[in-house]
Amino acid sequence: MSATASPGITEITACCACGGDLETLFELPRLPLTGLYGETPPTAAALAQGFDQSLCYCPNCTHLQLGRFLDGGFLYDTSYGFRTAGSQTASAATRYFRDWLLTLLPAGRCDTVVEFGCNDTTLLQTLADVARQRIGIDPILAHTADLPADITTLAVGIEDVDLRQFGADGPDLILCQHTLEHMPDPDGLLRHLRGQAGHQTIFAFEFPCADLLIAQQRFDQVFHQHLQYFSCRSIAGLLERHCFELIDFTFNASHWGALLLAFRIGRGGCEPLQQRQPRLERARLDGAHELFRNQMRACAALLDATEPPLYGFGAGQMLPVLDYHLGGAARRCTAIIDDDRARQGQWYGNLPLAIQSSAGIDFAGSAFLITAVDSRRAIAARLATLGAGRIVSPFLSL
Ligand SMILES: [Zn+2]
Repeated sequence: MSATASPGITEITACCACGGDLETLFELPRLPLTGLYGETPPTAAALAQGFDQSLCYCPNCTHLQLGRFLDGGFLYDTSYGFRTAGSQTASAATRYFRDWLLTLLPAGRCDTVVEFGCNDTTLLQTLADVARQRIGIDPILAHTADLPADITTLAVGIEDVDLRQFGADGPDLILCQHTLEHMPDPDGLLRHLRGQAGHQTIFAFEFPCADLLIAQQRFDQVFHQHLQYFSCRSIAGLLERHCFELIDFTFNASHWGALLLAFRIGRGGCEPLQQRQPRLERARLDGAHELFRNQMRACAALLDATEPPLYGFGAGQMLPVLDYHLGGAARRCTAIIDDDRARQGQWYGNLPLAIQSSAGIDFAGSAFLITAVDSRRAIAARLATLGAGRIVSPFLSL
């Protein structure tokens, strides 16, 4: 994909969870893309590129979602940089998900597990001792090298797969980790799965939870690839409408404020999930957004008043969106420091920032902006150990 290509854009007016009317919470004019990296400095056109976006709220079911969907073929071209194995926070989240999953399975085992949106099969690789047969489904597999031979892989979308080929009652475990939020039609997806699964099939999903996003004021997690932001109530309503029943749920707050959710074909019983968090009301959403914006404004002002040299620490994939909310203040950094050798020597595809190692950096004589905010506790601790002269966090809470 050229960094300046234009996608098709679909305006969304009805809630993807319940079909209700949407209210616009706020506009995000010219919101940049994320996950773009390159070998050379980005062009002026790439630096200026952005697409108008908005975050919407459904007062009926409390679902949050984007107001505009960019064409998936554009968003998930091979230059989309995210791979699970290459991300430390994602790898920790995979272990967390596996540990929770084992508590759901009789004797911790199953016969056939299907994961859709399996990315580079990181999660399935951890289940060799759990399932007799493992199947990974993801269009991205067409661009993934060195796949494990003992996992069956299908480089297609879940809607193009007949799950009954894996047994008359379907597979006994269906996983979906950090994929539902990318899908334009979760209602259609659940209808498809409902028609293909058996009564014994356990579904285990993980996705960012709107309740935690609001509680932590993390509007920097709103970006073009995440179309859906389910609240506990909106996903519970969707499950009930498709006649699923709740088995279990838990949260992993440190990884995208995630909700981990297990369910099967049945009859409702989603009240514990519905009632787990206070209902998301418009006034609270607006208040959380204002708290977020105040922190971004304060951080930008602090960076303006910080003596150089200033470096970013942690080459987070969401940095273009963070910089957007900081009003471009992250571009004051001389470079972004990251310990990941695979990232070093690269440039952000749409920020004038190179990624380099910490070799030769005068830590005591420099200021550092935490630029991978999901790891801000670990980064703050590491910078303190390295004797950093000044540490700036975009968020007041660590
Ligand atoms: Zn709704």
